[in-house]
Amino acid sequence: MNIILLGPPGAGKGTQAGLLVEHHGMRQLSTGDMLRAAVKAQTPVGLEAKAVMERGELVSDAIVSALIDDELAAMGADVGAIFDGYPRTEAQAMSLDAILAKHDRALDFVIELMVDEEALVDRVEGRYTCASCGEGYHDRHKQPAVDGVCDKCGGTEFKRRPDDNAETVRTRMAEYRAKTAPILPFYEARGIVQRVDGMAPIEDVTAAIEKVLASA
Ligand code: ADP
Ligand code: ADP
Ligand code: ZN
Repeated sequence: MNIILLGPPGAGKGTQAGLLVEHHGMRQLSTGDMLRAAVKAQTPVGLEAKAVMERGELVSDAIVSALIDDELAAMGADVGAIFDGYPRTEAQAMSLDAILAKHDRALDFVIELMVDEEALVDRVEGRYTCASCGEGYHDRHKQPAVDGVCDKCGGTEFKRRPDDNAETVRTRMAEYRAKTAPILPFYEARGIVQRVDGMAPIEDVTAAIEKVLASA
């Protein structure tokens, strides 16, 4: 199975992708995570992407599509893919079609996480992750069972993204509205878009996504 999780920043794409990986052994392909790794490693891609990401703008289509192509090439054919944060533009949606065809894969669902805009600022401003394993947390909505200790790996260091501030979030939301939301009709025409209420508690969102996957 190959699915796209679509939604604005903070909608819950990464959280739900992580749970699908745990439950179904699918693979999460997050262009945001790949780009952050490139920035950290100071690769040519990272050096080019850093300032763009800090402004909340979109990195070039060619760069992100190449990242996705490389990841799929390295994956077993029987492992399902969850596209998280990709595609984000019409050009990327076209590239994804070509990349999937090349790797003999077909898109099963585009799952749109519906969230209202004010909640997104709160989601993004309260977001942090475990520095060791990357598990996602939130100041109010998802705290570790033991304060300051990661549930998953026991790590005690956490980090926040430089672009998770109210001002940059507004730019990222504007980018979503202008460039990403317009790709929905492209997939709607194929009858593969499913909408899920992203304002529900995390486990309810997961249940709704599971229901979609079971309908395949
Ligand atoms: P979020 O899920 O909060 O929207 P991501 O981690 O997906 O954030 O992306 C962080 C940043 O990385 C984006 O604001 C953008 O600069 C860049 N980025 C990630 N994925 C893409 C993509 N598919 N196309 C262009 N830029 C991207
Ligand atoms: P995205 O990948 O779409 O940018 P994340 O999965 O990182 O979004 O979620 C953003 C923040 O909101 C995280 O801190 C996460 O713990 C929290 N979160 C995710 N889903 C929910 C939910 N359904 N209700 C409340 N908080 C959530
Ligand atoms: Zn951890």
